[in-house]
Amino acid sequence: MSVLIFIDTAEGHVKKASLEAMSYGAKVAEQLGTTAEGVVLGSVTEDLSALGKYGVKKIHQVNNEALNHFDPQVDTKVIAQVAEKTGAKVIVFSNNVDGKAIAPRLSARLKAGLVSGAVSLPDTANGFTVKKNVFSGKAFANITINTEVKIISLSMNAYKVVTGEGVAEIIPFNATVDAGKIKITNTTKASGEVPLTEAEIVVSAGRGMKGPENWGMIEELAKVLHAATACSRPVADAHWRPHNEHVGQTGIAIAPNLYIAIGISGAIQHLAGVNRSKVIVVINKDPEAPFFKAADYGIVGDAFEIVPKFTAAIKKMKGVA
Ligand SMILES: Cc1cc2nc3c(=O)[nH]c(=O)nc-3n(C[C@H](O)[C@H](O)[C@H](O)COP(=O)(O)OP(=O)(O)OC[C@H]3O[C@@H](n4cnc5c(N)ncnc54)[C@H](O)[C@@H]3O)c2cc1C
Repeated sequence: MSVLIFIDTAEGHVKKASLEAMSYGAKVAEQLGTTAEGVVLGSVTEDLSALGKYGVKKIHQVNNEALNHFDPQVDTKVIAQVAEKTGAKVIVFSNNVDGKAIAPRLSARLKAGLVSGAVSLPDTANGFTVKKNVFSGKAFANITINTEVKIISLSMNAYKVVTGEGVAEIIPFNATVDAGKIKITNTTKASGEVPLTEAEIVVSAGRGMKGPENWGMIEELAKVLHAATACSRPVADAHWRPHNEHVGQTGIAIAPNLYIAIGISGAIQHLAGVNRSKVIVVINKDPEAPFFKAADYGIVGDAFEIVPKFTAAIKKMKGVA
């Protein structure tokens, strides 16, 4: 019996969210008096053994080229094999796009109870109860999992990355890999230098920008901060910005260290996707805008005046022209 953590990668690199999942899984293992192990699919360019510092003792690597492209149906079956072979009783995912696609499928396959979007360590004193956000972050639910195998997907930024001294043992795992039901013929990378879900800083803007022609200042601020750009849903719906930038309840959920919201009102559906950000800065001309209630720092004023000044000040601070 062990705790198995899915180590999610993109283009051979371990995703930031997986560092949180490993730190969390290691603590769950400690609570249960067992060890934390990882599973990684496909080729990885970084030194996997170094991930031992996040508390995983072993990493099972299914190094099959077919797994380099994300296919949740195929990946689920492979992870199920690893879970069964290792006798994992708790399986931890990040609640990111990949985790959201695989964890429910694995739950059905292994007949395992699942809590998605966990925000803290499970209470194991009396059963196995996991806390999660519900109603777009307006309330918490404590859910007890009664099945023998338990699956948790961890909300981003819900658990801090803990580093120690360990080195993980890498164990090649020979899994049966099905041919996928879908075939990826072409992939196009989303525009923007920094991927939105991995970005430490996100500069986001809404309908207050009036039109797509005004996004130059948003992109400039993002560039100087080495940030990703995001937007509210109406902005993507109006094709001012691409849909892959839409954040919120029906868009991408993100949890950067710094989220700068410009000309966004702060509707609950928008907040649902960004309220796990560590620090929120809001720029809005309406002092009554709901976003200010969720903000750590707020600037009341016209974005068209503030943003260029903000960018100029950061450039000066960084010594860039
Ligand atoms: C089922 C459902 C799901 C939804 N999912 C999402 C979602 O995932 N993500 C999402 O974002 N929305 C979502 N919405 C829409 C959401 O309810 C809001 O309508 C939307 O977030 C508003 O976008 P906005 O803040 O850009 O625009 P607005 O509400 O129009 O707000 C614009 C803001 O800009 C400010 N402003 C105007 N001019 C300036 C200026 N010059 N300088 C500074 N500030 C200025 C205004 O004061 C205002 O606060 C959903 C709605 C529903 C019903």
